[in-house]
Amino acid sequence: MEKILSRRFGQENSHRLENYLKDSGYEGARKALTQMTPAAVIDEVKKANLRGLGGAGFPTGMKWSFINPANPKPRYLVINGDEGEPGTFKDKYIFEQDPHAFLEGVIITCFAIGSHKAYVYIRGEYLKSIARLQNAINEAYQNGFLGKGILGTAFDLEVVVHQGAGAYICGEETALLESLEGKKGFPRLKPPFPAVIGLFGCPTVINNVETVACVGPIIYKGAEWFAKLGCEKNGGNRLFCISGHVNKPGVYELPNGTTLREMIYEHAGGILNGRALKAVIPGGISAPILTPDQIDVKMDFDSLKAIGSMAGSGGVIVMDDSTDMVWAAMIAARFFAHESCGQCSPCREGSGWVYRNVKRIFDGEGRPHDLLNLPGIINNIGGNTICAFGDAITMSVGSYVTKFRSEFESKIKRPNPI
Ligand code: SF4
Repeated sequence: MEKILSRRFGQENSHRLENYLKDSGYEGARKALTQMTPAAVIDEVKKANLRGLGGAGFPTGMKWSFINPANPKPRYLVINGDEGEPGTFKDKYIFEQDPHAFLEGVIITCFAIGSHKAYVYIRGEYLKSIARLQNAINEAYQNGFLGKGILGTAFDLEVVVHQGAGAYICGEETALLESLEGKKGFPRLKPPFPAVIGLFGCPTVINNVETVACVGPIIYKGAEWFAKLGCEKNGGNRLFCISGHVNKPGVYELPNGTTLREMIYEHAGGILNGRALKAVIPGGISAPILTPDQIDVKMDFDSLKAIGSMAGSGGVIVMDDSTDMVWAAMIAARFFAHESCGQCSPCREGSGWVYRNVKRIFDGEGRPHDLLNLPGIINNIGGNTICAFGDAITMSVGSYVTKFRSEFESKIKRPNPI
């Protein structure tokens, strides 16, 4: 299998410019800036079937094309490197091991959308990532890949690194924009979408780190090559973060469309201590949980959606048959209750109710009406909130209650006093 995103991971000094240049580094940017028009670059990325790899899976080229070329305001590219979704740790590898591949994608993306300033918003705890990226940016400025007249062309670009402060919700794209503007990280009502009114009121494209890291190879080697690596409407490879009860947890670069079974049993070495599989979260904690009879699903945005889950951020969390699913649901609910920004009541109040309800059941204090009420509370959050965080609570915690209901029932010891 041909590796794209991780091919330099683990090599000595893979983050240094001199090594990147020895491996066709910045040749994609050179091709875009000297031989192509911005429209041709967007067209190529559309043909590559590159999807947004932060979680939403929106077609990347289409997202870029929403920027109105007639709008006279400055345009911005904002990179979402907040990476707060539990079970996800891939962007960290890109920042630390191949920051120039990421920067090359930033240059091409900015050229395509007509932006001369890019902001990279990085999770605050990622100190090594921040240092490695800043070092790569400095090298790029010193060698004519950033700044004025990049690669001898008329194209100018500045890149600014911004360190987040630890709020999960700042990974929501409009909360991220608020945070970048120096305000509290509250998601914005949409529309207007960022392509129309984004950072500082200007047209803005927000892309994930991994998505942008795919852009250089697409331009250098061509859309057709990239599209063929993956499956229908999901071009290329993806970095999957496999964690939990497996023998070889880690980051694996695999083609879109690889089955979940192959990931767990071939690449991650199977279930720890030879135990049986009980459940898998396929795309970060917000994704509805899957049961062992569903692991022949192809891991791409459309196939996972078709079975009621989502590919999300590529964070695959495996649970063996020793896992208490009420405990797992309680951990997820506690996370959501803690990270709700509190802006809208169904999420602010509902997330706490869900957590307290599940915790009561887990603690052996649950009563039958707790389980009867739970689906109603959960389902009244999703679809009634400003951002998709509310939907995540409904889909995630709701899936534990639906698929492992008997475990919840068995923990309810006391009779309903009503
Ligand atoms: Fe904040 Fe939750 Fe409302 Fe999103 S859904 S804006 S996280 S309160």
